[in-house]
Amino acid sequence: MNFDLAQLAPAGFTIIVGAAWCTVFVLYFVAAPYGRHDRPGWGPGVPQRIAWLLMELPSLAAFLAGWLSNGLPKNPLSWALGLVWTIHYGHRTFLYPLLLRPRPGATMKLLLVLMAVVFNVMNGGLNGLFLAQALRPEWDLAATVGLSIAALGFASNLKADATLRALRRENTGYQIPQGGLYRWVSCPNYLSELVEWTGFAIAAASPFGWSFAIFTAANLVPRAVASHHWYRTTFLDYPTERRAIIPYVL
Ligand code: NDP
Repeated sequence: MNFDLAQLAPAGFTIIVGAAWCTVFVLYFVAAPYGRHDRPGWGPGVPQRIAWLLMELPSLAAFLAGWLSNGLPKNPLSWALGLVWTIHYGHRTFLYPLLLRPRPGATMKLLLVLMAVVFNVMNGGLNGLFLAQALRPEWDLAATVGLSIAALGFASNLKADATLRALRRENTGYQIPQGGLYRWVSCPNYLSELVEWTGFAIAAASPFGWSFAIFTAANLVPRAVASHHWYRTTFLDYPTERRAIIPYVL
């Protein structure tokens, strides 16, 4: 099947930006029920490792289907952006669930998994198709700057997630993470994820790169605020200078 980006673009962009607005609005009132914010009443759950695999594989598959829909790219910028996506989602789909140290019995709600699958198919597919059909041919300053920011965000996201995993070596509950960007914010993994996709959007100069960066902010900023509040009310000795997601600001 061959998809024409020009036909899909207006609806796809509108749906993703609309989903971002809905997400930020809902998450302002209700923390997404997983991890430390998990609670009963949201339907059945899926074991966390399987949930991550099910949620993230569609993003990788839909992106690859779109990106390679015209055969192997000849444009070096398309290769670089394709590798960013493939490495990020290859890691998130296969390695992250294997490395994860879930609390005993912890699950992810099936409802959240299904919502993520729908979003990821659309988002991955549109970003892949854009690279195959509409990416500019030249490697310019925006490409170098954006890809450098994306690489920095990716590395920093890996480090922040590894710090949390290390805490679970000694204890299956929650502790106060220390070091690195945790000196300044409660959720550096979210900050880094946002930096990564902003870098991708700058390099791709694509409406779908930007709609994804906007969605990531809409999803992760309210969650960081909720988690920061949770830390402060759970640990009486929580560092007072630490912010939720933006150092010194929020
Ligand atoms: P969290 O920080 O909530 O949790 C990550 C892991 O660390 C979980 O296993 C969690 O356990 C554990 N953990 C968290 N805090 C502590 C602590 N204080 N002490 C011990 N263990 C802890 O991240 P998410 O699960 O929300 O996200 C995981 C990754 O996915 C992140 O890198 C994030 O950036 C990315 N992501 C990206 C999204 C996007 O829109 N692009 C959306 C959501 C996530 P438990 O599950 O028991 O809480």
